[in-house]
Amino acid sequence: MQLSYWERKSFMSDFDTVIIGAGIVGISAALSLIEHDPSMKILIIERGFLPSGASTKNAGFACFGSVSELLDDFDKMGEESTLNLVARRFAGLAALRKRTGDDEIFFRPGGNYEVFKTDEEDFFSHCHDNIHRLNRLVKEITGVDDTYSICDKKIQNFGFSDVSHLILNKCEGRLDTGMMMQKLLTLARTAGIVFYFGAEVRQIEDESTKVTLRLQSEYYVEAKQLIVATNGFARQLLPELEVFPARNQVLVTHPYKNMKLDSCFHYDLGYFYWREIDGRILLGGGRNLFPDTEYTDSLSINPDIQEHLVQMLKTWITPHEFPGIDMQWSGILGIGKVKFPIIKKISENVIVAVRMGGMGVALGTLAGHEAAELMLGISTARTTDVVS
Ligand SMILES: Cc1cc2nc3c(=O)[nH]c(=O)nc-3n(C[C@H](O)[C@H](O)[C@H](O)COP(=O)(O)OP(=O)(O)OC[C@H]3O[C@@H](n4cnc5c(N)ncnc54)[C@H](O)[C@@H]3O)c2cc1C
Repeated sequence: MQLSYWERKSFMSDFDTVIIGAGIVGISAALSLIEHDPSMKILIIERGFLPSGASTKNAGFACFGSVSELLDDFDKMGEESTLNLVARRFAGLAALRKRTGDDEIFFRPGGNYEVFKTDEEDFFSHCHDNIHRLNRLVKEITGVDDTYSICDKKIQNFGFSDVSHLILNKCEGRLDTGMMMQKLLTLARTAGIVFYFGAEVRQIEDESTKVTLRLQSEYYVEAKQLIVATNGFARQLLPELEVFPARNQVLVTHPYKNMKLDSCFHYDLGYFYWREIDGRILLGGGRNLFPDTEYTDSLSINPDIQEHLVQMLKTWITPHEFPGIDMQWSGILGIGKVKFPIIKKISENVIVAVRMGGMGVALGTLAGHEAAELMLGISTARTTDVVS
């Protein structure tokens, strides 16, 4: 089908900025741009008929790091870089809540727990021995004295079996992922940001005065500038980027008759996570069990991991009751050798904001804002893909 003169002139060109990806980062970047200049013409192109990346498939943890994750990151990235990243997640979460309002995203504070099983005493001791130090370090970020504390007395209330310790992070919380994305979409539409859903960018042509995006059926869109916010799918368009897809399996149970959980839980360095939602449990993770198959951007189900998640529920997370599984899905993270996002200018007209890792709900609003500032020339110092 050929486009008409009118379609080409009014729908496919004359944009100030085009953003690829209607996830939290893409929409946040668009909102930051339009807040700076309400007259900007901004288009977000999304290949799904819904936003179809991690932003609508995640667990809704409003988190910035458990004790074991931060200690692991200290070893891999150094203390300063880790704390910098934690501060950015914390600031991103605050910016998201300010933009949307807590009620609109069903934000629930009160803390999330890290879980240690009975055969992990050495691992727990290592975390335990570092709580005081971590509390001192993150106080600069959270503003409270004891962000982390041992909370073993709650184990019985939650009904876990085979669990010997819990560490509470009282500055974390949870939200409703669907409500968050609906609110961001509403804010964007109200501000005049245009969305094309079901449009896949196949190629980027970066010329000196404009950027042309080739879509399916030989359609193309032209704009002055481009932000690529495709996270785990980024290498499909820009293979030179150091961002790799990592698939996460998720399930949601049927409702429990006797729900004992009212919070979020991390286990095994954050590779597993679960929470209560609408009287059900959402449980996800386990990509570390199958490293050969899970570094993929294919959104399919891995039955072995799903079965592992079911066994976790039956044997020790909710051994008192198993209402059965209602839904299963997978989502794609964008990860790298380090956990820092890539937010940088790759040419005069093109910015990338990708690699949000497993905490893009927290980081995404800030990442989008930083991409917008780079585009506007307000900030030039946000190339964050290098750490010590
Ligand atoms: C299962 C799971 C659980 C998670 N749980 C949490 C959590 O509890 N807390 C937390 O903080 N983080 C969590 N995360 C991570 C978080 O969801 C992500 O870091 C964040 O959503 C990334 O947002 P984004 O906008 O960068 O990318 P995405 O949401 O992935 O958006 C990228 C978009 O680009 C689109 N796209 C890609 N290529 C093209 C193309 N060529 N043309 C057009 N469109 C394209 C995709 O369809 C997609 O909608 C989780 C992730 C997963 C997968």
